[in-house]
Amino acid sequence: MLVIGAGVVGISCAMFLQRAGFAVSVIDRVGSGESCSFGNASGVAITEMLPISRPGMAMKVPGWLLDPDGPLSVPVSYMPRLAPWMLRFLRAGSAQRVRELAVAAAALARCSIDDHEILLSAANAKHLLFGDFCASIYDRESEYERAKADWDLRAELGFPCHKISGAEMHELEPDISPDIGCAVIMDGWRNYSDPYRFVTALAECFVRNGGTIVCDEVVGFDVENSQVNAVRLAAGGAHRSDHVVVAAGAWSHLLAEQLGSSVPLEADRGYNTTMPNTGIKLGRQLVYEAGGLAVTPLSEGLRIGGAVEFAGLDAPPNYRRADAMLRKASKILPGLKDTSGTQWMGHRPALPDFVPVIGRSPVISNVFYTFGHGHLGLTWGPTSGRLVAEMVAGQPPSLDLEPYRVDRF
Ligand SMILES: Cc1cc2nc3c(=O)[nH]c(=O)nc-3n(C[C@H](O)[C@H](O)[C@H](O)COP(=O)(O)OP(=O)(O)OC[C@H]3O[C@@H](n4cnc5c(N)ncnc54)[C@H](O)[C@@H]3O)c2cc1C
Repeated sequence: MLVIGAGVVGISCAMFLQRAGFAVSVIDRVGSGESCSFGNASGVAITEMLPISRPGMAMKVPGWLLDPDGPLSVPVSYMPRLAPWMLRFLRAGSAQRVRELAVAAAALARCSIDDHEILLSAANAKHLLFGDFCASIYDRESEYERAKADWDLRAELGFPCHKISGAEMHELEPDISPDIGCAVIMDGWRNYSDPYRFVTALAECFVRNGGTIVCDEVVGFDVENSQVNAVRLAAGGAHRSDHVVVAAGAWSHLLAEQLGSSVPLEADRGYNTTMPNTGIKLGRQLVYEAGGLAVTPLSEGLRIGGAVEFAGLDAPPNYRRADAMLRKASKILPGLKDTSGTQWMGHRPALPDFVPVIGRSPVISNVFYTFGHGHLGLTWGPTSGRLVAEMVAGQPPSLDLEPYRVDRF
């Protein structure tokens, strides 16, 4: 049994497959958790189930692109390449599709905390998880009113959130400006004190229990009678396997293509800065919708970031995106002064219709896919791993997997 990719998704698959009794190897060209799973905002964001694309969004995209500090950036040279993906993305934003996709995402969110806890118990790492809720901050009441239908849909799907005044939020977290309009409390969120440490703790547990992690790049497959017999490695030679799980994050489509499945996956590049000395004290994560950013207190310091940039897998990072978010965050955190720290960019694996791929290949019978978790891979990774293990073991799936099929595009 071979898993390609040692991010949060691949390592979660490896752990659940191992628990199901399989002898598992993981291959990654870098160390466990060193790609997108390294520097994310650390939120087990169980109330984030609404697709990003919405009715009327097409009208907003040009304005966002023209604003150098806006929430979306696409270099002109990348626009022709992105256009087909963007059309699919906008189509996924129809009112009916938004509801269907939210239902599919909520099904994953409902299992999320339990699946994190299974893996954390196994790895003896429960101490890495903290927090009780996340607060979504609004500059003005009117912004909340405009978003109210979203909060109502979350409640309908079983995730009620409640609004508090700006003064109440300031009382809960005194470093937040008293001038904010209001906030919404999203109960049930958790955070990791260090998301990278979470993945490495799981990887260490996996190896302690007999798993193998190989540092190499998969460059091809030996296929015979619609079955993969072995993967070809960049260092030379092959690694034989009876089953293969592709959990290679933003690079997964390159492997799926070789295995006969074409998937519109894009790298949705996000940025942040982790600062040890801001002096800001927060007890939990904040989401600032108007700024398109999240603020998280971590063991290393305060992490501020978010943003969406489409520029492909190979373009160098543009850290002006990270600087812009610090400027915006200072509006809700007026005490944010010392912003020296470490900047980071990660490739979120983004499918145009928001929900990940979790399913068996329709072409190669011993290949399973799980990728495309976009902004929510940390949240959904463990559940994806459990669902993959169920499929490989031939158990009836505990969720309807139809919405996550690889051939839905
Ligand atoms: C700024 C930012 C903030 C975020 N905040 C959150 C958050 O708060 N909550 C949340 O749930 N999610 C968040 N995310 C999203 C989350 O980080 C990702 O969805 C998640 O890390 C994806 O995990 P993955 O395992 O699919 O991919 P990765 O972690 O990228 O792992 C994929 C691995 O596959 C390997 N690989 C690829 N191709 C090959 C090959 N051919 N051979 C060998 N190895 C290969 C890569 O080297 C890589 O290590 C955030 C992302 C960003 C950028």
